[in-house]
Amino acid sequence: MTQQSFPTHARAVIIGGGVAGCSVAYHLAKLGWTDLVLLEREQITSGTTWHAAGLLTTLRDTETQTRLAAYTQQLYRRLEEETGQATGLIECGSIQLALTAAKAEEMRRGYRAAQSWGIECEEISAADVQRMWPLAYVGDVRAAFHFPRDGRINPTDVTRALARGARQAGVVIFEKCPVSAIEQTNGRVSAVESALGRIVTDTVVNCAGMWARQVGRMAGVDVPLQAAEHYYLISEPVAGVHPKLPILRDPGRSTYIREEAGKLMVGIFEDAARPWNPAGIPADFTFGEIPPDWERMQPHLERACGRVPILEQTGVKLLFCGPESFTADHNYLMGEAPNLKGFFVAAGFNSLGILSGGGVGYVMAQWIARGSAPMDVWSVNIRRTHAWQNNARYLADRVAETLGIGYQDHWPFRQWSTARGVKRSILHDRVAAAGACFGESAGWERPNWYARPGQQPAYEYGWGRQNWFDNHAQEHRAVREAVGLFEQSSFAKILVQGRDAERALNLIATADCRVPPGKVCYAQFLNDRGGIEADVTITRLATDRFMVITAAFTATHVLAWLREHIADNDRCVVTDVSDAWCMLNIQGPRSRELLSGIASGDWSSHGFLFGTAREVQIGYQQALALRLTYVGELGWELYVPVPFAIPVYDALVAAGEPLGLRHCGYHALNSLRMEKAYRDWSHDIGPDDTPLDAGLDFTCAWAKPGGFIGREALLAARSQPRRRRLVQFLLCDAEAMLYHNEPILLQGRRVGLITSGMYAHTLGAAAGLGYVSDERGVTEELVTTGHFEILIGNCTVAARASLSPLYDPRGTRPRS
Ligand SMILES: Cc1cc2nc3c(=O)[nH]c(=O)nc-3n(C[C@H](O)[C@H](O)[C@H](O)COP(=O)(O)OP(=O)(O)OC[C@H]3O[C@@H](n4cnc5c(N)ncnc54)[C@H](O)[C@@H]3O)c2cc1C
Repeated sequence: MTQQSFPTHARAVIIGGGVAGCSVAYHLAKLGWTDLVLLEREQITSGTTWHAAGLLTTLRDTETQTRLAAYTQQLYRRLEEETGQATGLIECGSIQLALTAAKAEEMRRGYRAAQSWGIECEEISAADVQRMWPLAYVGDVRAAFHFPRDGRINPTDVTRALARGARQAGVVIFEKCPVSAIEQTNGRVSAVESALGRIVTDTVVNCAGMWARQVGRMAGVDVPLQAAEHYYLISEPVAGVHPKLPILRDPGRSTYIREEAGKLMVGIFEDAARPWNPAGIPADFTFGEIPPDWERMQPHLERACGRVPILEQTGVKLLFCGPESFTADHNYLMGEAPNLKGFFVAAGFNSLGILSGGGVGYVMAQWIARGSAPMDVWSVNIRRTHAWQNNARYLADRVAETLGIGYQDHWPFRQWSTARGVKRSILHDRVAAAGACFGESAGWERPNWYARPGQQPAYEYGWGRQNWFDNHAQEHRAVREAVGLFEQSSFAKILVQGRDAERALNLIATADCRVPPGKVCYAQFLNDRGGIEADVTITRLATDRFMVITAAFTATHVLAWLREHIADNDRCVVTDVSDAWCMLNIQGPRSRELLSGIASGDWSSHGFLFGTAREVQIGYQQALALRLTYVGELGWELYVPVPFAIPVYDALVAAGEPLGLRHCGYHALNSLRMEKAYRDWSHDIGPDDTPLDAGLDFTCAWAKPGGFIGREALLAARSQPRRRRLVQFLLCDAEAMLYHNEPILLQGRRVGLITSGMYAHTLGAAAGLGYVSDERGVTEELVTTGHFEILIGNCTVAARASLSPLYDPRGTRPRS
């Protein structure tokens, strides 16, 4: 590196010279941001990047991550020629094995989705595996999948190539320059303090790998990640192995095996990993290694020998252990901090940093330069996390489970088993006594389904009908035929208050918020592209007070969105009051009978109109009742201040018993809403979907004064034929199951993917939602007359398609 004078100003400062930081620098420079500085504590690649195994495999859990990996491969293919720096790319392909019927089902579903995302892959036989990998034992192989474009790369060299490309475009990189402080002014980053001096900047990108949590703290930003020990072994040379040997991924043995300079590399993904330095990552850990624990690795290595028996007679050259950062949900952390403008994060790659690095840099650069991500990145957005997750003990316990999850079975309805019980509603013990089987969302323990007396409230995972299928059916039917009680206290409740609250919300929300107190609006918050950033209800409580309600897992995002889009001179404050209120949702045709029996006021259809709210008294207590439904029935959401919740719950349960009241869980909520084709944000709708695509344009108050964010983009799209629309499907085979990402076929042609699916007990088969794209326009006629099938693994299942809900299409039941 030539000695540069240290700058005092920069357009952006990138912290960290691993693959992420160098890729962000490279991509920002390509966008013309040349006044950029990258500060590296020690030396480029000296953190985690230098010792990665360099696997470039494309099929990931989500479309976003798969696309980022695919872009990364494309970039790495051209980088050597572009920069003159060798990258060590070998396009050897990869093979993934399934040893059980369940894993074969999972992978068949997965590779079908991958094909829709443009990934080359095919199912191959055990004999094919044997031919491509003569040293492998294939006697236990149930199914196998070949990804011919996958490969591997030298992580150090590819990072150097990115750094070189960035430098060639004008970026300056300073090594041996740790950042020690981050300054902010009026809620925005303003300067960075480092060992070589202070740089004034309004954009900082935290790419500090496993130190990113500590760097985040310098700015008051939570970056919930934690390092864990991660292993691979390198054997002595083995005859017959060569660079073109495909990477052999063997989830059943939690290992991958690949060639490494005539030797074999065996990578291990432990089921219960060991967190590394939960109290803080040492500042001087450079090109560091962790002394390996041979005893701990022994069983894993023995299992790997079962796959490639020659390993048993081959010496070990190296057992390597290095730290890598993991997150609470196995997805990385990207984007702008929710509480500090101009402070971006790209870290926590869960052992996928090399294979995603190119895509991460591309997305981050666009995000920084344009102010918004170029695609739906919710699954990796830092705003999906919560401040409480930056708890050292929580992270240490959880990452022990996260590390291995990529290689385990990705069961439908799978629940985390570590770091549970973070948030419990005050009604937790009551619903537990009623048989609740809990699942976790945003730290909340929530009843997913209820066991019968004598039945264990526990999941037995599988791809077919679940062990709770009958419980689910009873809960579902109780809501359709009598009345159900859903404990939904996890809902986020946000107060928007002040003289200008109406004006501020009216610009952010699609609906017209100029309504009288007591009215509830259903609305979306849109981005400039017209994409849906949030799906909320807004209840006007007073002339200057609104309550915005959204799902718990979106709370950080929705709060940040509101705060960012309220003008500085608006007299309006946003307060998260989620934990002050419980929510009991009473739904079903007998809900009126139940509530009018115990609560004050007129609950008749005229006395309590759909889409209105009012204070009610139940016993000595009070609650805010909203007449709304997400299940398609007559019903009310009761928002109850926490100290009143237990008596209100007890009164509801006692009065409900003779009416057939049943406790119902989130799985029933999901199947009920699926029958009504109610959309679920992050599955069916998100930042890349407009209300026009999603059939939600009825929420748009087109003519309200001042319009709303995203209106112009929607108006432009409205004049075009609808080439992409959300459609509801019902399978013609009652045994087949839909979860998500199953390809939709129209006359045998792929036209989209299922975004969410669930067994629908009233309709009698699995139902799902999914976008259908067609250049001619997706018309009512095309949907009703087209021959639709859903590709589930290797089977095609005929499906009925509809633009209007298959259950109660006229919507009479909620308004009865
Ligand atoms: C054993 C093992 C095998 C792996 N195999 C693969 C694989 O096959 N494929 C794959 O995709 N991924 C793999 N990974 C994961 C991959 O290595 C990481 O995801 C990736 O390297 C992370 O890159 P990064 O840039 O986020 O972090 P790092 O490479 O750690 O870079 C962060 C940089 O920030 C610097 N820094 C920290 N604090 C400061 C500060 N205050 N000021 C300035 N600079 C600072 C550090 O010095 C460091 O250089 C593997 C990891 C391990 C441990």
